[in-house]
Amino acid sequence: MGEFNFIDSIRGGSLIHEEGVRQGIGDDCAVLESPKYQDTLVTTDTMVEGVHFKFSYMTGFDVGYRLATANLSDIAAMGGRPLAMTINVAASGDTEIALLQDIYKGLMECARRYHVNLVGGDTVHTEGPMVLTLTLLGQVEEGQALLRSGAKPQDIIFVTGDLGLAQTGLEVLLHDPKLEDQYPMAVDRHKRPKPAIKLGQAFRQLGAHSLNDISDGLASELHEIAKASGVSLMIDEKYIPINANTQRWCREVSQKNPTDYALYGGEDFQLVGTAPQAYLETLQEMVGVSLIGIVTQESKSPIVTMRDVKGRTSIITPKGYNHFGGDSHD
Ligand code: ADP
Ligand code: MG
Repeated sequence: MGEFNFIDSIRGGSLIHEEGVRQGIGDDCAVLESPKYQDTLVTTDTMVEGVHFKFSYMTGFDVGYRLATANLSDIAAMGGRPLAMTINVAASGDTEIALLQDIYKGLMECARRYHVNLVGGDTVHTEGPMVLTLTLLGQVEEGQALLRSGAKPQDIIFVTGDLGLAQTGLEVLLHDPKLEDQYPMAVDRHKRPKPAIKLGQAFRQLGAHSLNDISDGLASELHEIAKASGVSLMIDEKYIPINANTQRWCREVSQKNPTDYALYGGEDFQLVGTAPQAYLETLQEMVGVSLIGIVTQESKSPIVTMRDVKGRTSIITPKGYNHFGGDSHD
């Protein structure tokens, strides 16, 4: 099957809905309507075979599904709605068409779940490993996107869901696949993370000051907010939400500190942000939201500190994942 047959084969299922689409796959450009009073969000993410995924422990479907989630999480982190995506595929000549179709099946399954159309892409030949790049467009009310730079002194710091579970799942898959059955939730978090789109929009409507998604671990994302906003932050270890499966994995297998999974483990795709004290009660009542600290003060050299369970305070470094190292998964 040649490139054009392949494109024809995916074109049929590419539109999840017709809303706002003047032209999808099949012309020089896709044409999307631009609604009034909306800003356009643009985000892109690349996954390289052997670096970000391996077909030894992920199916094509898993890889396709997973590809869309990082971008969806970026849209969530702006308080926006995902709309349409394009995908660029670089693959070698001996790539099975069935594998590519499986990747697209996973991608479109995720697209259906989040109501996103596939409106274009590009297909190129390479001798190297497979490279998949996904670009996602979204929308947000004019001027309302939640930036990292909006945190103010005395803001409350909140996070969604629980942290460290994706890292747990990755370790299960890489080091101990036979334990997969005992940690289904952790493996699922790695393979099928759930971008917090609804909560992101809720934080925007609430009037949160800043928001970031957690792709590289809580420590690194907090530093990004601190730096962009010019403020120092303080969190409390005992309030960091950590899943029981991560606790069990640490106790029974890895012998590491569960808090480190939350601080430095990547790819949970939860949200972290700050909001004015006035919203304390509203945030406390939101399901799946934990309050973990406060913005302490404006600062020219922002720091992030953590009070540990024994009451000691220490400075947290941003070391999350090393994007250029051999162990990168982002
Ligand atoms: P052009 O040469 O004008 O760039 P192409 O022949 O590359 O157009 O692509 C034709 C149509 O198919 C375009 O709408 C393009 O976005 C889409 N397309 C090409 N490759 C892919 C792909 N891998 N996935 C999805 N859509 C694709
Ligand atoms: Mg082209």
